[in-house]
Amino acid sequence: MKKRVVVLGATGSIGESTMRVARALPEQIEIVGLSGRNNTTRLLELAREFPSAQLCAGNEASAAALGAELPDHTILHGDSGLEQLATRPEADIVLVAIVGTAGLKPALQALESDKDLAVASKEILVMAGEQVMAAAARMGGRVLPVDSEHNAILQCLDGKDPATIKRLILTCSGGPFRNATAADLAGVTPEQALRHPTWSMGRKISVDSATLFNKGLEMIEAKWLFGIPMEKIDVVIHPQSIVHSMVEFVDGSIIAQMSSTDMALPIQYALTYPERYAGPCAPLDLASVGRLDFEEPRTDLFPALDLARRAGTAGGTLPAVLNAANEAAVDAFLARRLSFPGIWESVARAMETAPFVEHPTLEQLIEADRAARSAVGDRL
Ligand code: NAD
Ligand code: MG
Repeated sequence: MKKRVVVLGATGSIGESTMRVARALPEQIEIVGLSGRNNTTRLLELAREFPSAQLCAGNEASAAALGAELPDHTILHGDSGLEQLATRPEADIVLVAIVGTAGLKPALQALESDKDLAVASKEILVMAGEQVMAAAARMGGRVLPVDSEHNAILQCLDGKDPATIKRLILTCSGGPFRNATAADLAGVTPEQALRHPTWSMGRKISVDSATLFNKGLEMIEAKWLFGIPMEKIDVVIHPQSIVHSMVEFVDGSIIAQMSSTDMALPIQYALTYPERYAGPCAPLDLASVGRLDFEEPRTDLFPALDLARRAGTAGGTLPAVLNAANEAAVDAFLARRLSFPGIWESVARAMETAPFVEHPTLEQLIEADRAARSAVGDRL
């Protein structure tokens, strides 16, 4: 069956990989909606390539500029535009690939409109995983992970009884500073942090991969996606990024998923789930990879994993605080207003000082997110 797909954040790194999948599988995937914030040139090119897509630009001026080039289209914009796109009657599934939490509301609206959700934006599950999963359960929609680790786990689980899971093992490349010292980390520049050893990605997730907050966010993401408590979620460093994650079962068996380092595969599997097709992902040649290494993460040097475990275990507003403080701190680091270790110092401080609500409403989560961002900003 052909899936009609809306892509929120179509002009980013995940968006571009999604277009490769759509180009390779025209019988399986039809793009019916595309959003981008600033890059109207790219949005225009994509609109010409995928003519049945409705478009949403970041603001009114960009929408007007696009409208002038595409007289037959109505161009949406802003938050209301994202909502209209996410609830489009023509869509079966909405892929949320907007960096940060700006995709939370459209994600919830998509589920409420009876659509499946493909989630790249892990931040929305960290902030409001309970609300997203509850909306999916209420509506009977699916929440399909695009993040490579969680997509790997979905493939490893493949219908097995959840009671037989001993633990989920998320693999982590270790980022560009796997072998660094504390002194090295103190002087890290944005240019160095953005140079990821195995993946080419957007700026925010590249910095998150360097601090290991990316893996911390993914631990909390896994808790919600698979309904697994934090104590059964582990991380192992695997520098080659070939094993994308694993599940250990009660009998001692570990099932792993391997493929080339290319986001096209998890995106494709999320969009065509549970079917498999020959797509754009290059085959994996294990002999040329040669070896697969695994080692313990260095939690002494990278506090992000322990902070995330604490937030994920405590629950309530704490994961939203961790996520928002991290987003604000990464922005400040990229603007050279904060040191690299300042990122986890800011997150730790926000977690210590923010008020804690154990069973927050969506409004309370949004307020916790806003307050944590401004608390980080106020100190700089
Ligand atoms: P990116 O920065 O390359 O692209 C972000 C996209 O979101 C762009 O289309 C941009 O126009 C849009 N956008 C940004 N802010 C917006 C806002 N406030 N409102 C509306 N649109 C906005 O980011 P990316 O690397 O593609 O990552 C997207 C998400 O996917 C992130 O949450 C990231 O953690 C997750 N993810 C990415 C990868 C990867 O390989 N890039 C892998 C796993 C998960
Ligand atoms: Mg990942």
